[in-house]
Amino acid sequence: MSRESVVVIGGGISGLSAAWELSGGARGPGDATPRIELIEDGAVVGGSLATTQFGDRTIDLGADGFLARRPEAVNLVRELGFDDQLEAIDASGASIWLRGALDELPTGLALGIPTSPGQLKTIRGLSWRARLNAQRDEHAPVRMKVGDDATIGDIVRTKLGRELCYQFVEPMVGGIQAGRVDDLSAKSVFPALLDAARKGGSLMRAMRASGPVTPGPSAPSTNSGPTFFSLLAGVGSLPFEIARQLRGRGVVVRTGVAVTALRRTPSGNYPWEIDTYATTTPADAVVMATPVEVTARLLGAHDPALAQLARVRSAGAVMINFSVARDSVTVPASGTGILVPLGTAWTGDGSMMTTAVTFLDRKWPHLRRDDDVLLRVHVGRIDDLRWSEMSDEQLIARVSAELKVLLATIGTPSDALVQRWPNGLPQYCLGHETLVTNARTAASALGVALCGNAYDGVGIPASVGSGRRAGREALEMVQLSYR
Ligand SMILES: Cc1cc2nc3c(=O)[nH]c(=O)nc-3n(C[C@H](O)[C@H](O)[C@H](O)COP(=O)(O)OP(=O)(O)OC[C@H]3O[C@@H](n4cnc5c(N)ncnc54)[C@H](O)[C@@H]3O)c2cc1C
Repeated sequence: MSRESVVVIGGGISGLSAAWELSGGARGPGDATPRIELIEDGAVVGGSLATTQFGDRTIDLGADGFLARRPEAVNLVRELGFDDQLEAIDASGASIWLRGALDELPTGLALGIPTSPGQLKTIRGLSWRARLNAQRDEHAPVRMKVGDDATIGDIVRTKLGRELCYQFVEPMVGGIQAGRVDDLSAKSVFPALLDAARKGGSLMRAMRASGPVTPGPSAPSTNSGPTFFSLLAGVGSLPFEIARQLRGRGVVVRTGVAVTALRRTPSGNYPWEIDTYATTTPADAVVMATPVEVTARLLGAHDPALAQLARVRSAGAVMINFSVARDSVTVPASGTGILVPLGTAWTGDGSMMTTAVTFLDRKWPHLRRDDDVLLRVHVGRIDDLRWSEMSDEQLIARVSAELKVLLATIGTPSDALVQRWPNGLPQYCLGHETLVTNARTAASALGVALCGNAYDGVGIPASVGSGRRAGREALEMVQLSYR
């Protein structure tokens, strides 16, 4: 390895992907590979990717699968030689809770947007007005002038009406990042929707013409093969495998250590010094792969555009996992789970806290057992923090009561586990793209490459792509500084 030094701060999937790229990617290290040190605050690498033992098997605590139709994550798994671990999703479709009953979602939706009025025929929980609005969009669409950007809510509400917007589309597209469609930027979260709205005619026709869509600002996609993958030992096994191979390549991987400051030392031998409580590491270039609020705190003093990153808000989410005796629970005959629109009334206090239920062992065969069913209840949205005031026991009791309403029958769970993810999901609101572009330009001028789920999309493939891009940028910075 050469004498140049790059420090990667943050050992989630973005930082690990950056270190993988820095250490040569598929080719492996060469003469020009710098010294690489990755510093992670957590006791282990992985960030939002983590596993635990539950109900006699290994389950994911955070992300449980990744889009197969975006290439970044699958390619990384293949480069690692880990592809024998890939497992294709074994179920499709989902149900939605509308007006006190479950309706199966039709096929052919584009990230929740209907692509023809006929798709809504079987949804009993939608009013005649919602159906009429869909017909109107097909035959006499509402005119809407869309500029450089608009919220997803603005577009869908104007074109398809309030009910389809909040009861139908929001649970799906908002659910991806626990956000509200009235805040989320179409340009950054759902560019195909913005393109469709810009065409000016029927939104549904335009979405129909655009074919399969994936979320995220820049989303290369393929249309064949499975839609999602997991890994046989859980998605949370991926970070450990990357870290293991990085160590084998000579990368220093440190865990349980927080970076406390980044200091500019332009007159010294290296432009940066990275402090932890006990060490200082000199660096020619830095990859910043921390959650956006940490990045804003650590780098904000170096440039106002970096301080502006503090404007990106992140939503917290809670995953409550249950193991329930198979013969004591009735779940819909097919589908990966249930979506619950925000503000849904029920027999208990306030609106339902559940935003979605996932049938984990129906999605992933490696989790299947004869005697139980694994259910995961999703709670938390950018504007619903009720969970943060509740103990684990209170959360389990509350969502158990909601499950009794959502499912026809459900016995007492034999096991339950609560996992909280405070600030896990950054919100891409209007102006996000400009904020990110300005921050990246400022960072780059300082020899820092930014990556993570706040910049290029929230999903795992986007985070892998973001990390690898930052790795390439840091390599260029190092090569330039030693010309
Ligand atoms: C509950 C939940 C469910 C999800 N489900 C899915 C899914 O099914 N599919 C999908 O594709 N995506 C999913 N996502 C999104 C995806 O998992 C994340 O966006 C992605 O893993 C983010 O990776 P990251 O490396 O950018 O950030 P993180 O995973 O947040 O990693 C950042 C790392 O920086 C470290 N750090 C923080 N401060 C410091 C410091 N001062 N010094 C050193 N290190 C520091 C943190 O400890 C952390 O490990 C989900 C996310 C959540 C929260």
